[in-house]
Amino acid sequence: MNKKIENIAQKSLNGTPIDIDDARDIFSFKGDEIYDVLYWANKIRLKYFRTNINLCAILSAKQGSCSEDCKFCAQSTFYKTGTETLPLANENRVNESIKLAKQSGASSLGLVTSGYSLEGRLGSNGKENDFNKFCDLVESSSKSSPLPLHASIGCLTPEMAGRLSEIGVEQINHNLETSRNLFAKVCETHTYDERISTIKNAKKAGLKICSGGIFGIGENSDDIVELAFTLRDLDVDTIPLNFLNQVQGTPFYGNEPLKPMEILMIIALFRFTLPDKEIKVAGGRETCLRDLQSWMFYAGASSAMVGDYLTTKGKPANEDIQMIKDLGLNHSVKRENKLAMKS
Ligand code: SF4
Repeated sequence: MNKKIENIAQKSLNGTPIDIDDARDIFSFKGDEIYDVLYWANKIRLKYFRTNINLCAILSAKQGSCSEDCKFCAQSTFYKTGTETLPLANENRVNESIKLAKQSGASSLGLVTSGYSLEGRLGSNGKENDFNKFCDLVESSSKSSPLPLHASIGCLTPEMAGRLSEIGVEQINHNLETSRNLFAKVCETHTYDERISTIKNAKKAGLKICSGGIFGIGENSDDIVELAFTLRDLDVDTIPLNFLNQVQGTPFYGNEPLKPMEILMIIALFRFTLPDKEIKVAGGRETCLRDLQSWMFYAGASSAMVGDYLTTKGKPANEDIQMIKDLGLNHSVKRENKLAMKS
């Protein structure tokens, strides 16, 4: 067993934050040492989460026609991807998704909308304004929902974040995606600072934060380490890790795919850096991890997304639940729906 890896792991196990050099060292381990890194990532996960695995599901509640140019995304109007455009979901569609998410073992359903913001371009009186309709939808669907509804609706002003909090939403998702430098090359229609402002606005409003990134978009290990440390500084609650599922028509179609062992090391890096936070493996795991999907928990993941993604299919939820049971883990973590309790 590599002593240097063990020493870094002991910091995470003892609640001492690892430093940037420790994180860079993690990525420097190669060959058989990778198994030592995974061994300790699993130990850290077990310390903070025992055998509990949290599952969540999402609904593409408004899809396509996005004004932004994120080069990995099938929903941008900048690229011809053939993605179907869907208006804001109605209550029936949300209720169907809640039912499916519950059957899939998910402990929450995230409503995800495309676009810069549900209020259009903030401060520019954009004609798009679905935010009030979205709040009404959340309030009405929540009354009978056994699951909490989370919101991933683009950039948020302090007022929007406050309103979400008032109606009982407990968590929002807003990914930083990658490092500051690389983000400027991946998206030129809005800035990293706008994304950080949304996270800060949501935190100030008392909302929990789910924020992570996407990998396989040309990042190097320094970009990954920087993202992990930025998220640690922002004190986010959940870190979703997405792995590029290449969509024809997007600029990143044809990128060199990440190898499964590289993905496991990314998961481990986040577990070492944010030892007590929910690390969630989200989009792309089926195509990128292939037969190594069950290893994601050994690499430190404490959570996974189940069911379909925004524009791509996931694997059947019963197969994920069987995989979790086969590993001796437990997915049945109960979460309260505070919105239903309010009504
Ligand atoms: S990631 Fe979000 S903001 Fe970027 S193009 Fe896709 S839907 Fe639009």
